[in-house]
Formats: sequence, structure tokens, C-alpha cells
Amino acid sequence: MSEARRLLVASRNAKKVEEMRRILTEQLAGGAAIEVVGLDDVPPYDEPVEDEPTFEGNALLKARAGVAASGLPTIADDSGLCVDALNGMPGVLSARWAGPPKSDARNNELLLAQLNDVPDERRGGHFVCAVAVAHPDGREIVVEGRMPGRVIREVRGDGGFGYDVLFVADERPGLTTAELSREEKDAISHRGRALREIAPLVVDLLA
Ligand code: IMP
Repeated sequence: MSEARRLLVASRNAKKVEEMRRILTEQLAGGAAIEVVGLDDVPPYDEPVEDEPTFEGNALLKARAGVAASGLPTIADDSGLCVDALNGMPGVLSARWAGPPKSDARNNELLLAQLNDVPDERRGGHFVCAVAVAHPDGREIVVEGRMPGRVIREVRGDGGFGYDVLFVADERPGLTTAELSREEKDAISHRGRALREIAPLVVDLLA
């Protein structure tokens, strides 16, 4: 397969890579022969510090670094949870909200503590996922997907990752996104939406 038909997914988060591979592979099926490879399939490189103030900026930073290091068209995402009562935080700081070392459990504990006095009707928020694709020839595409919902008061479920155990999506009331099957979450998630939107654009970009 020619280099131009390979696509690097630039993420170290195994669960995110798996979600991205699955959704992209589904979307790219049907004749578009694109091989999706991961960071372990290319020579190691220094990954950039995600210091942009927007999801879009960070996704582009990661996609550009992948192209520079591997020479392959690269897709990268940046995502997080924006909570209304916290003025949109943790936002781009979602992964490291409780400080180093990165820990989903400590992030969830901190978020629960911060929202302790916030009544149920003001616990709304949304997940955001920006997905960027950068091509070695300089072309770039960025799209954004969202999943609105609210933060509950106790952790529930063992699927997903990150804040899924605390988040109930508006489209699936009653269950946290950690209690949904992978397919159910993909169908409504910020990442699923962004990846489904960008997949046909990626096919065109690599054509
Ligand atoms: P990123 O790796 O910089 O995109 O950081 C994403 C962080 O946002 C993760 O570590 C999670 O804390 C949170 N996050 C993003 N997407 C999801 C999701 O689908 N479920 C739960 N948490 C998520």
C-alpha cells in the first residue's frame, strides 16, 4: 500500500485509539482502502505539549507533529468535558484536572467535590471532541463533535473511560455513558460524531 493511503492515529490513549480505529474502519469500509496505523507502528518521536487553549488547536498540534515525524497523513483528537457550573472547565484541562500524575479516579473525585453544592438542575455540561487531519502536502481539516448531558452525584458503570462514570447524556437518560455498550456510546458521542463527519473528508483528502 502506498504511504499516501496509510493514516496515522496519533494518540497514546489505548481506549481512544480503539474507539477511533473502530469508527474510522467502519466508516472507511466499502472500498476506501486506507490502512489505519498507530503510534506503535511508526518510529518513536517526541509528542508535543498540548498547550493550546482550544480543543481544535491541540488536535491540530498533535496531527502536525505526527506528519512531521512520520511523513504520513495523521489524524489526532483533543477532547474533554465542559461543565456549565464551572464556566466550561475542566475543558482542555480534562485529562489532568486533578494535577499529575494523570488519574481518572482523582479527576472524578475532584469534579464531584467541586459540584457538591450545585443543584441537579444546574449540573449540565457537554463533552467536546475536535478531530484534526493533517496531510504532508499541507492540507488540514478540523471538525468538532459534542455530546450534551449532565454530571451525576456518584460514579456508576465500568465501561468507557475518564468522566464516563459521572456523565448521563441527554439522549440516553438514566444510564451513564460508562453503562452504555461501545456501539451505543459511539452512536451519540462527541468522538463518534466528529469521526463520522471527518471520515468521508479523509477519504477525499487521501484520494
Ligand atoms: P485528551 O487525551 O487530551 O483528549 O484528554 C481527554 C480527557 O477528557 C480524558 O482524559 C478524559 O478525562 C476526558 N474525556 C474525553 N472524552 C471522554 C469520553 O468519551 N468519556 C469520558 N471522558 C472523556
